[in-house]
Parts: sequence; C-alpha cells; structure tokens
Amino acid sequence: MPSFHPPVRTLMGPGPSDVSPRVLEALSRPTIGHLDPAFVAMMDEMKGMLRTAFCTENELTMPVSAPGSAGMETCFANLVEPGDKVIVCQNGVFGGRMKENVERCGGVAVMVQDTWGTAVDPAKLEASLKENTDAKIVAFVHAETSTGALSDAKTLCEIAHAHDCLAIVDAVTSLGGVPLLVDEWNIDAIYSGTQKCLSCTPGLSPVSFNDRAVEKIKNRKTPVQSWFLDLNLVMAYWGDGGGGARSYHHTAPINALYGLHESLVILEEEGLEAAWQRHAYHHQALRAGIEAMGLSFIVPEGDRLPQLNAVTIPDGVADADVRKQLLADYNLEIGAGLGDLAGKVWRIGLMGFACNKTNVLFCLGALDAVLSGMTDNINKGVAVAAAMAFYQQ
Ligand SMILES: *Cc1c(COP(=O)(O)O)cnc(C)c1O
Repeated sequence: MPSFHPPVRTLMGPGPSDVSPRVLEALSRPTIGHLDPAFVAMMDEMKGMLRTAFCTENELTMPVSAPGSAGMETCFANLVEPGDKVIVCQNGVFGGRMKENVERCGGVAVMVQDTWGTAVDPAKLEASLKENTDAKIVAFVHAETSTGALSDAKTLCEIAHAHDCLAIVDAVTSLGGVPLLVDEWNIDAIYSGTQKCLSCTPGLSPVSFNDRAVEKIKNRKTPVQSWFLDLNLVMAYWGDGGGGARSYHHTAPINALYGLHESLVILEEEGLEAAWQRHAYHHQALRAGIEAMGLSFIVPEGDRLPQLNAVTIPDGVADADVRKQLLADYNLEIGAGLGDLAGKVWRIGLMGFACNKTNVLFCLGALDAVLSGMTDNINKGVAVAAAMAFYQQ
C-alpha cells in the first residue's frame, strides 16, 4: 500500500478551512512527553494566548483534546445536571445538537425557534424565560455555520443573566473571525474549534469558563456523566501553571497542540482586531462579485457572518454538479446547504488562512466559469471584475 498523499485543495466551505503552512510545519516537530517541562511550559503559553483570543481573564481556559463537538459536550456535560431546565435558542443545525446534549445529560430542553438564516431573536428568549422561571441555563450559537447568521451574544447573555441563568455560547465559527468579547459580554461558558477561523487543523476545541460556571461545576450534586470530559479531572491535568503538580488524565495530542500554539502565535502577530477586519473586508469583495453575478445572500445584511456566506443557487442549476466540478477542475471546495436549505444555497467560507484576496478572486472566477457552462440565469463574466473594483477603490 502506498503512502497517502491528499490532493491540494482550496477549502472555502464551512470547515475545515485552509491550514496555514506554518501550522502544518509545527505539527511535524518532534513529539515529546506530555509531562515534559518543555511541553508543560507550552501548555501555559497556550492558555495565555487562548485567553487573549477569547478576550477573557478566565483561569479555566484551555483546549479540549477533541473537535468542536467535544467542546460543546464539555459545556453541557459539566453544567447541566439531571432535571435542569435549559432554554436552547435554535436558528440552524447546531442549536439542534445543543438540544441533544441537554437531553443526554438528563436536562429538560425548552426550544426557542427562529427561522434559519436569521439571528436569534432576543425578544423570544425573554418571553421564554418569563414563562420558564425555573430555567437554569440559556444556550445559543453565536455564529451559525449552517446558515451564515450572526446573533447578538452580548444582548442574549444580558437577558439570560437578568433571569438568573448561566449562558453557554457556541463560538466554533466566530472565534478569530468576528468580534467575540467573553468577559465584556459576560459569557459563562464558551467553546470553539480549531478548524474554522483559527487556520489550524480540525480536532481541538478551545473552551473557557468563568467563576460562576466553575462554581456550578464544583457544586454539582451528581458526578459528570462523562469521565473524559469531566472538568474536575481535566483541570488537574491542565493545571494552574503555578508550579503545582499535574496529574495524568489522558495523553494530550502533543503535535496537534503544537499546531494550535502556532496558529495562536499567528493570530497574535496579525492582531485580533486586524483578523476581524480582514474577514469583514474580504467578505465585502466576495459579496460584490456574488451580487454582480445576480446571486443573493439569504441572511439579512446586518446579521451576516463575513466568514460564512450562504448564497442562493440559480434556478435550474443542480447544486451537487457545481460543487463536483469545482472540486474536479479547480480543486476548490465550497459547502452545500443543510436541512431546509439543502439544494437551495451554497455555503462559501472565508475562514482564517483561507480568507484572502487570491481566494476571493479564484472562487468567483471558478464559480462564474462553471455556472456559465450550465445556465443563462446568471450575469456571466462580471464577478471577478466586480470584486477587483472593490479592492481597487
Ligand atoms: C463546526 C461547528 C461545530 C462542530 O465542530 P467540529 O469540530 O466539527 O466538531 C459546532 N458548532 C458550530 C457552530 C460549528 O460551525
């Protein structure tokens, strides 16, 4: 059997996104022991850089050794006790997974539904909390990758706290891509992922918990049902960096953590605010091209994520044929719609390392060429020029 050599693709879907070559190089550095002092020092640096990225001082900030979904599960498994009522605001796929998590933890999920493609409506959350005075937790997705909608995390957290609830926030796609201020917005528990706007490989999930969340975890009446994700145990491994002994819990994915460390160094070099601005800027260029072509965005303008663009598919065009051709001829991956949006939209990601001018022009050019061969329902040959006009203004 020959070694596996993947094709080189441009990843402009909902994740994973393009990985920085610096991260790929970091992954291949020598493996050392997970209790090696050099590794422990790296873990401490990483916790500091994660706090910077999350804009928090939270002591309990670290990467869970598994993908974003495990960060989600870490939040729910640790904070939800059997019988706890949790208000879950759902405006896409990932809110549905939150419900699954609540119920598997023995909690009672109360769903607050919003139309896919719109932001979570704070008024609906408020109404639900007035009806459910015994609710303990509010959970919502900041950046809904399945639709491209951004919700107002600050306002939703304020409402949760006014009703004495903790707030769990999914920031898998938002971290590094749009403003996210964990302390200023009073987010109690948050999880993210490495494969979206951090320019890193999939497989790790940065999380952060404030004192109120840690208090709830320490005062649980029942043990956390997951041994692996039990923060009481994981905390002893990731330690406080104060020279205290670290006890073995699991073997950290050493090389994967080198990769995350490098991606956080890259983020610090660029600057968090500069990274947010870069995503907003290239989104505007992509938008100019998409709209010139005659396609449109499903999310209302003020609620759009720059890093995930849900774009309408022109009439009479078969979604999968286009994506297949983009992959075969251009080595370009864009995402399909999910759920109700399947076959109706494409999801074009501009995440992390993939968010740059070259990719915007390449994607528009490829989409224009492929669609031009399939339909007369677009304005042909104008997308790249429209984006260039934006860049040159
Ligand atoms: C990608 C994603 C997840 C899951 O992350 P994985 O790394 O795929 O496990 C969760 N929530 C949102 C909003 C996401 O975009």
